[in-house]
Amino acid sequence: MTTNRALAGAHRTGTRAGGAGGPEEGSSLRTRLRRSEAVGLGGDDGARSARSRPGALGEPEGPAGGGPSQALQSAGAPPRGARPGDEQPGDVRAGGGRPLGPGGAAQAQGGPLGLDGAPQPFHPAGGAPSAHCPASELAIAGLVPLSTVDWPGRLSATVFTQGCPWNCHYCHNQDLIPIRVPSKVSWREVRDLLSRRRGLLDAVVFTGGEALRQHACAAAAAEARALGFEVGLHTAGAYPRRLTDLVAAGLVDWVGLDVKALPEHYPQVVGRPRTGRKAWDCLEMLVEAAGRGGPDFEVRTTVAPGDVTAEDAYEVARRVHAAGARTYALQQARSEGARADFIAVAPGWDAACERLAARIEALGWDAFTYRPAS
Ligand code: SF4
Repeated sequence: MTTNRALAGAHRTGTRAGGAGGPEEGSSLRTRLRRSEAVGLGGDDGARSARSRPGALGEPEGPAGGGPSQALQSAGAPPRGARPGDEQPGDVRAGGGRPLGPGGAAQAQGGPLGLDGAPQPFHPAGGAPSAHCPASELAIAGLVPLSTVDWPGRLSATVFTQGCPWNCHYCHNQDLIPIRVPSKVSWREVRDLLSRRRGLLDAVVFTGGEALRQHACAAAAAEARALGFEVGLHTAGAYPRRLTDLVAAGLVDWVGLDVKALPEHYPQVVGRPRTGRKAWDCLEMLVEAAGRGGPDFEVRTTVAPGDVTAEDAYEVARRVHAAGARTYALQQARSEGARADFIAVAPGWDAACERLAARIEALGWDAFTYRPAS
């Protein structure tokens, strides 16, 4: 997610108020590494980014990440028989254990409830991480020690988690989709970095891949909180129950949510069946939660030439607005990091996107951002 500082100059149409952000899928790990360095704030850590070692997706600020971890190889893997993208009972809980925060999955449709059944404010004291799925099991593909682009207005360390249940045709982080890939960075290295950066960084942003795919994400968020950092999350909305539990537990302060398509067109975009309502359910939950002190959030939609969403994007944005979201970004898909056969440009594409952005901006947002591909 961007800070306005980093990307405002690239926006051909305006950010009206504070919007911006590096999209979960719109900004590849490699691209974001460069951006972090480009703003000149990366310092020593930024200089030791993944780019300095060809082939590395992301490199820890400290010593090179450990080798294959037996624990990490199984972290977040779906239960036997589960299909990619299936959300299992237990969500951010581990192994069917108790919910992380007050209420847990009981709030799947509306946030935490008090003893009297009345809705309670979000951001309670914070849930306890599960002992069954500790942060040390988080499979991490890369770590950006200092990013100005992953959470609007925050200096963050950004953790790229490995694995995603979806397979969007325009995905910029293809390397992060496979599930059974050994971690390149240990959580201990992330913790060490955070410990050294107290007072210098505001936040930790978990992105991917799909960060919520791994149950250990909740424990990692809790540890980041305990170290004094705010927690940001990029999610494609593949796990609405897990997101609900994380929000209810007060473990996330800001969410960048992808709404990629109209519900009926989701399978075309993400390459998986039965995906149509997941992100839209996340949106409804976040709107409702925000009304009770829940996390701020930005909704992002990506368009690519010939993609069904290129036709529907205005309607997607209109429904997002009607649902109550007030921070929105339209972004062009990029070719970098995408599949070799993905085509990100077409005659007249840029102009069409700018016209689309103008129409969407006119819906009226507190913050609107257009992110062109270049
Ligand atoms: S495949 Fe996963 S990581 Fe890639 S754009 Fe889609 S949801 Fe994001």
